[in-house]
Amino acid sequence: MRKIKHFIDSGFVESSSGKTFDQVAPATGQVVGQVSEAGRNEVNQAVEAARNALTGEWGKLNVEQRCELLYRVADGINARFDEFLAAECEDTGKPYSLARHIDIPRGAANFKIFADTVRNAANKSFEMATPDGAGAINYSVHVPKGVIAVVCPWNLPLLLMTWKVGPALACGNTVVVKPSEETPATATLLGEVMNEAGVPAGVYNVVHGFGPNSAGAYLTEHPGVDAITFTGETGTGEAIMRAAATGVRDVSFELGGKNPGIVFADCDMGKAIEGTMRSAFANCGQVCLGTERVFVERPIFDEFVARMKSGAEALKPGHPEDAETNLGPLVSEIHRKKVLSYYELAAEEGANVVTGGGVPKMPGDLAGGSWVEPTIWTGLDDDARAVREEIFGPCCHISPFDDEEEVIARANDTEYGLAAAVWTENVSRAHRVAGRLEAGITWVNSWFLRDLRTPFGGMKQSGIGREGGEYSLEFYSETKNICIKL
Ligand code: NAD
Repeated sequence: MRKIKHFIDSGFVESSSGKTFDQVAPATGQVVGQVSEAGRNEVNQAVEAARNALTGEWGKLNVEQRCELLYRVADGINARFDEFLAAECEDTGKPYSLARHIDIPRGAANFKIFADTVRNAANKSFEMATPDGAGAINYSVHVPKGVIAVVCPWNLPLLLMTWKVGPALACGNTVVVKPSEETPATATLLGEVMNEAGVPAGVYNVVHGFGPNSAGAYLTEHPGVDAITFTGETGTGEAIMRAAATGVRDVSFELGGKNPGIVFADCDMGKAIEGTMRSAFANCGQVCLGTERVFVERPIFDEFVARMKSGAEALKPGHPEDAETNLGPLVSEIHRKKVLSYYELAAEEGANVVTGGGVPKMPGDLAGGSWVEPTIWTGLDDDARAVREEIFGPCCHISPFDDEEEVIARANDTEYGLAAAVWTENVSRAHRVAGRLEAGITWVNSWFLRDLRTPFGGMKQSGIGREGGEYSLEFYSETKNICIKL
């Protein structure tokens, strides 16, 4: 049986307690490995290694040298592309066709892009007058924040982890990563790549375990951690924020969503269907930016629902490695229970189940996996729980609307504010509506498209702060002012 260990100070180590937990492949439900579960001991060691690295060889590198190493890390991921692909797809059950084009390439690209961004970031300077007439110059410099805790979710494990580790290291910090307990593999594999690339010991560390009373809590409570970046549920964000209050440590949060998609009658129907299908069902609906609330202008409502139904029914669940598979399982049995409870709830709340709502019959070894049917509902009020709460499964509710003012108010009537999608061919309407939606990102006639130099993050309960491009420097470095009297 495969063993997944912590990666601390450039070595792979097991927990001193000997405690482990199962690594389960969600496509089949089979246990494929044993993962070491960190206690306070391992978390202490990882944080200590990260602290020591700040003043060791790593701390003495200039930005060019750091970025050169990060380029090598990116190349190292690409050199072992197939291993990362197999590991990610086994852990998540997602189709190879998806991870091959999104998860793994973006995992490598995050190191290159942030190396370039940080290397090219300019500092500001200001000249000022002084009473003696000599003047003074003020200039700002970015210095590392210190040890960054990176707490990750399971839906896009490598992509979302490297999206944090890339800028953290480019800025000169060191990291301790706590991957999700559901998806420990690629963060661990990255340890090997870090060693191969020559990244000094202690710069990148990984501890495995759960959240409360386990590695996640031990890490975020640790006084040796200077800042915490977290992606996951809003409720977990609240717990981490409480931990971060001790020692007034900085946080960057990317949290949950219940994102609206708004389809106007003047849209290009083919594009709107294709985009909404992806936003509801890609990665089996386990995408924070996914659309679970779809609003469709009444004249095209029936046609839109019928075409979404055909699209959902044409999705092909199957083995991740099969080329025709385009729908994976949910990540775990626990998550399947949660999603199925919403399927029941929606029916109890009076939803019209357009398609799905249950568990598909899967053949052979897939029968033990965490599969659910892609599901579409209509007929619920906006205050139904299935319409208000994040489900994070392959499902959406579609409701009709009659005018722009109404739909903007309904789309914004949520505690979340992560993403929105608007489908219209009317350019004035596109600007008008996008400007008024309460979302960190609004797409017009597209979905999941973003230049990585742009800010990313959520409004309201969907997050705190912005990362991406130079915005990441605001979290991963301290900006110091130096004032020189001439
Ligand atoms: P989660 O909050 O359950 O877990 C995320 C991580 O936090 C895991 O590593 C977990 O072990 C850890 N954790 C849990 N409790 C903790 C605690 N008390 N202290 C410290 N660590 C703790 O989230 P998940 O189920 O893994 O991921 C799904 C959620 O993530 C959804 O809500 C989704 O919307 C959100 N998400 C958001 C974004 C975004 O960019 N906004 C991206 C992806 C996922």
